[in-house]
Amino acid sequence: MPQLKIIIAGAGLGGLAAAATLMKAGHQVEVYEQAPVLGEIGAGIQISANPMHVLRHIGAAERIAQVGVKPGGYVFRLHDTAEIIQQFSLSEEHERMHGAPYTQLHRADLHEILADCVRALNPDAIRLNKRATGFTETADGAELHFADGTSAKGDLLVGADGLKSVVRNQMFGDATATYTGDAAWRLLIPVERLPANFLEQVMSVFMGPRGHAVCYYLRSGKLLNFVGLIEADEISEESWTVRYPWENLKADFEGWHPIIQTIIDAADKDQCYRWSLFGRPPTMNWSTKRVTLLGDSVHPTLPYLAQGAAMAIEDGAVLMRALDMKSDIAEALQLYQRNRVERTAKIVTQSAANRELFHLPSQAAMRAAFAKRDEGDDRNKW
Ligand code: FAD
Repeated sequence: MPQLKIIIAGAGLGGLAAAATLMKAGHQVEVYEQAPVLGEIGAGIQISANPMHVLRHIGAAERIAQVGVKPGGYVFRLHDTAEIIQQFSLSEEHERMHGAPYTQLHRADLHEILADCVRALNPDAIRLNKRATGFTETADGAELHFADGTSAKGDLLVGADGLKSVVRNQMFGDATATYTGDAAWRLLIPVERLPANFLEQVMSVFMGPRGHAVCYYLRSGKLLNFVGLIEADEISEESWTVRYPWENLKADFEGWHPIIQTIIDAADKDQCYRWSLFGRPPTMNWSTKRVTLLGDSVHPTLPYLAQGAAMAIEDGAVLMRALDMKSDIAEALQLYQRNRVERTAKIVTQSAANRELFHLPSQAAMRAAFAKRDEGDDRNKW
């Protein structure tokens, strides 16, 4: 494929990773982001070996290693006694098996690293304050239209504009995403507020009857990231910036182990974020002749395998390779999609299945399910 002009809607983790990957392959890329300034919100993200291969390819791995934390393992505990019912290593073994490390990062750090990778290839590639409102497709390209009345033309348009994707809605109709039944609480706690040697440097998952909590360290161990996922009737906005009363958080985790109480008690009471998690069933087709999608715009994924961003990052790499292999753009988009449909659908389905596993109603059921999981071990394969 000769050099193309590629327009990307959305400068999230998926859009930026795709931009850097496509630019490295020689394409001219412009990324249009609705936000007036770049900057991801304060929360953690786990990056497993699969996206790390792509991140390494675009030159992000060294900086990720500098700011990230490599956890020793995954440790699954019961919510009230903290008894460990399963654990596995994520250290040298994971790296040996998959050729890249497992890393925990502050999302803002990863976002900044990706933006720097893009800007190193073209300082003007990211255009801010550009809210896409729709697109026009022609036989030889696509034009993305913005709320400010301007537009941008390319040979190809990639919708990386997240769950509420405008590009996706125009392609398939404005089908609202479905509430999954779970809300995610988010806290970041400076470790000096916690007792010494509070939790090991591992990915700790506490599992209870109607929810689970994930705790891990960021920024060389200086911050503890807490994500509390709870089944809830009350729907809050799907947004990283919606704050909720600390008292509701405390009530949601009443009866959970003192480790969880200590974390909640150490939180800034006006800095407790909560959002409701929405999803869509996997879809088989997400491309036209000159327009395609990637990441949460097409396969939003419950965070219960920590693979949503990983899939978005992989998407960009597979798209790049498909464009490299075909001389016709429409054929390349079909090749890209064919290579992503099954894998992303599997991740969406397995993430949803983990919701059931992590929220089983009784400890007996949980022990039995985890024992079975031990037999058919699928944990280290992403
Ligand atoms: P988004 O991150 O949603 O980015 C979309 C971008 O498009 C945004 O910048 C937005 O402002 C912009 N945009 C939207 N509309 C427009 C428009 N009209 N015009 C222009 N720009 C627009 N994944 C992992 O791999 N590991 C994890 O550990 C992990 N943890 C998670 C924890 C939680 C609590 C949650 C909720 C998710 C987690 N995920 C994780 C999933 C991950 O966050 C998402 O899958 C990932 O951020 C998707 O990236 P994206 O670029 O596709 O979409």
